[in-house]
Amino acid sequence: MKFTVLGSGGNTPTPLPTCDCRVCLEARREGVPYARRGNAIYLHDERALIDAPELVWETLNRQQIGEVEYVFLSHFHADHTLGLRALQAFGLEDPPVESFVGEVPTLVMSERTRELAVEANEVLAHLTETWADTRVLADGERLTLGDLSVTHLAAPIEPDGPDDVSAFLFEDGESVALVSPDENRHLPLDRLPPLDLWIKECGYFRETPAGELLVTERAEETSLAHELSFAESLEQIRAVEPDRVVLTELEELYRRSYDDYERLAARHEELALSFAHDGLELAV
Ligand SMILES: [Zn+2]
Ligand SMILES: [Zn+2]
Repeated sequence: MKFTVLGSGGNTPTPLPTCDCRVCLEARREGVPYARRGNAIYLHDERALIDAPELVWETLNRQQIGEVEYVFLSHFHADHTLGLRALQAFGLEDPPVESFVGEVPTLVMSERTRELAVEANEVLAHLTETWADTRVLADGERLTLGDLSVTHLAAPIEPDGPDDVSAFLFEDGESVALVSPDENRHLPLDRLPPLDLWIKECGYFRETPAGELLVTERAEETSLAHELSFAESLEQIRAVEPDRVVLTELEELYRRSYDDYERLAARHEELALSFAHDGLELAV
């Protein structure tokens, strides 16, 4: 399997237009790999896109990826769904135009994501009705895409909450890769097979590399109460022991540059851990 990380940022891509921190200044000056767009992954084997942040249209151009046959959604949040207008590019008919709509991609998600991202949003409901064949997967349900099988693993974002988030397990008969781009706190780790590759949420940092406070204790008890911290992310990696793990959803808030992440990865060499950057190619 071959993956490209299209966007390694999170809800707040880097640079943030309103920010002049050293990480944003560097990203504005240097571009990729210092700049990070919203979280999206592309699986070349079956031309599958996982998540659709708002700039995914431009990112596919940047990576020269011209075919998308499947779009998987991990959850309903705006930073993973507001790029769905790219469905119109994927399904557009070649001229001479008859109806504009050609072969549309398959949009894969949980019933919960369909309810929250599509049904509850008239704009996206109208768009996806015309520009996608929607396929809803139940928890544990498996889908075959050519030579690949994909298993859907659902999890809540908050304990005892509804299964708002989806992870996707891709298997090609030789290797197993799990893509769980965000909201990893309550992933059912006990249901995972041995993994060759895990592309997962990094989790938040309490401090900058220089030791300045990034989130208060109060935030950790309130607005961040259901978010995964980097320390918890490391615990998950130690529990699952994948052959290789790539951390993504690298928020601007973490105030870490590409070079900071390189140094941090070197400090966790025993976990075969690395941090994603836009354009990163991964083969398993
Ligand atoms: Zn996100
Ligand atoms: Zn900044």
